Amino acid sequence: MKCEEIQRKLSAFIDKELKQKDAKLIREHLNKCTGCAEELRAISSAWDFVETAEGIEPSPYFWTKLSARIDEQTTQRAERWSFVKRLFPKPIPIFAAAALVLGVLLGNFVGRMLYPNGSYMNTNGTAEALALNTFDDLPSGSLGEAYYSLLTEGGEQ
Ligand SMILES: [Zn+2]
Repeated sequence: MKCEEIQRKLSAFIDKELKQKDAKLIREHLNKCTGCAEELRAISSAWDFVETAEGIEPSPYFWTKLSARIDEQTTQRAERWSFVKRLFPKPIPIFAAAALVLGVLLGNFVGRMLYPNGSYMNTNGTAEALALNTFDDLPSGSLGEAYYSLLTEGGEQ
C-alpha cells in the first residue's frame, strides 16, 4: 500500500474498523514509515483531545438535570421549612433569635436540623459541611445553589 492509501485508512485503523489483513498491512507499514507513523500519532492525539473535551463538557442532560434539581430543591426547602414549623408550631421570637445566634455559632448543628432526611450527614466532613452552610445563604432554589449541589453530588450518581 502507498502512504496516501495508508493515511486515508488511519482513522478506520484507530477505530478498529479495518479487516485484520488491512490492519496488519498498516501496522507493518507504520513500523517502517515514519511519515505515516507521525500521521497516526497526530490523528490519535486529536482524537484523545476530542474525547477529553467530551469528558469535560456537560452532558446533554446537564441542563435538564439542573432544572430538575432546582425544582427538587425548591420542594426540599418547603419540606424543611414545614419540618421547622412542626418543631416550633408557634412563633417564639426570642427562641428564634437564640436559634439564629446558635446557628452562627453551631452551623453544623443547625445544618443537621435543617437536613432531617440525612442528606446533610452524607457529606464527607466539615469542610464540605461548612461549604453547604455557605451556600445556604443563596436564595431558595437559586441557580447557584442547584448548580453547586449538582457539581458536588454529580460524582455519586
Ligand atoms: Zn507511509
